[in-house]
Amino acid sequence: MNLYPPPLTKLIHELAKLPGIGPKTAQRLAFHLLERSEDEVGKLAEAMVDARQRMGYCERCGHLTETSPCALCQSEGRDRGLLCVVEEPKDVIALERTREYQGLYHVLHGAISPLEGIGPEELRIKELLQRLAEDDFREVILACDPNVEGEATALYLARIIKPLGIAVTRLARGLPIGGDLEYIDEVTLGKALEGRNAM
Ligand code: ZN
Repeated sequence: MNLYPPPLTKLIHELAKLPGIGPKTAQRLAFHLLERSEDEVGKLAEAMVDARQRMGYCERCGHLTETSPCALCQSEGRDRGLLCVVEEPKDVIALERTREYQGLYHVLHGAISPLEGIGPEELRIKELLQRLAEDDFREVILACDPNVEGEATALYLARIIKPLGIAVTRLARGLPIGGDLEYIDEVTLGKALEGRNAM
């Protein structure tokens, strides 16, 4: 037996698909939305559809953007000899927040994880190697997350990039292990970037 009328069941079902939203929270959000004005709910729905339609990934670096190449890739003021490799677009935002970094980025869209069946082919590594071949980078900073998958990814990348004659560095140790770059405060992350070590 279904406790709710179909439109409400459908709303709860869709909300429950979002990360971190369990059935209870989905129900609470659904009831909350029904209490808001139609106009307010319309604005929320429109913002979701609009963002989804207009945002895509930069063909060059893989960061989220409305135009490709993205503003970071096109910026005149960035150091074009420095490339920072990160796992996710949100890591670019975390590093930009430190205001320490002036180079370019490359987003892998994940990390190597044999347990989850994610190998190098699933990541934007082919695109990375192509950029390294085409452009003149003097240093690649591996800013993978400080966890097992990030470590595996950094070691894999260092092994294939070093023979190209490009310096490979990684963020300084001392970042909270098992963490995610996006949750590390700007000062700590900025220091880790500043104190980066050769691999
Ligand atoms: Zn870009």
